[in-house]
Amino acid sequence: MSEKLWLGCGVLLAVGTLCFVGLPVESQSTEQAVEDEESVEHVVAEAEPVCREQSPNEFLIRRNYLPRRGMSREERVQAQENFRRSVRFRTENYGYFEGFGQRAWNSRTPQDYGERVRVFGLPVRLNERIIPAVRCAEAEVARSCGDIPYTPVRLSGLRDRNTYHSHEVSNHVYGIALDIDPHLNTCCGCTARWREHPLCQRQVNSIYERMAMPECWVRAFEKYGFYWLGHDTLRDTMHFEFLADPNRIHLTPEEVAERAEAEATLEAEQTEAEDTSP
Ligand SMILES: [Zn+2]
Repeated sequence: MSEKLWLGCGVLLAVGTLCFVGLPVESQSTEQAVEDEESVEHVVAEAEPVCREQSPNEFLIRRNYLPRRGMSREERVQAQENFRRSVRFRTENYGYFEGFGQRAWNSRTPQDYGERVRVFGLPVRLNERIIPAVRCAEAEVARSCGDIPYTPVRLSGLRDRNTYHSHEVSNHVYGIALDIDPHLNTCCGCTARWREHPLCQRQVNSIYERMAMPECWVRAFEKYGFYWLGHDTLRDTMHFEFLADPNRIHLTPEEVAERAEAEATLEAEQTEAEDTSP
């Protein structure tokens, strides 16, 4: 079911509730009221979830936990604290990866959370906890990015080894990172080989010109809590990582009902304004 349809159900729910409240109590039998409530619950249970727009957590963004040359002592301490927090958050939510954090924080490993799915029609393994967010981004791409068609041919997700050689830990080992067409979307700051790539060599006005994927895809992923590593010094344009809250990917049924009610009120006000205008 589409988001629109689900919102329609929400509107129904809100209107239904208003109608019920508006009727004199004695005009409705208890059985009828129970029936109404059940059908409302049925609608809620059947409806597809609504995606919540989210921003990444600041402490999970690479540039905020990576020590850099020229940092003050305070900045360095803050970066270390962010890194410690990021490892704990990732471990608690996505599993314990050997060498980072403590096993006591989560008895499962990221591999235990691994789920094989198809995204944009392609097979990939990801942490099960972020798959709903990937679906939100995928739907947004389908909705908003039709003007510049792009069909990925290769994806890369969960990995069993850390691809960073420093003290860092890749979000691929947690299964929360997704690479789209790693052979077409450049990572000019990653390796010497990438730096020689024609898309890394040429003069450009923006980073979006260093990849095959349309910028619209970046916007679609960013809307639902993914951080794009094209913004990072690595200039890793193939790479998205989910850095928002995995417990808040969808709106709660109460929030959906509230939103629908607010929209219905606004619509009623607009209709009233139109009716009274000369
Ligand atoms: Zn990646």
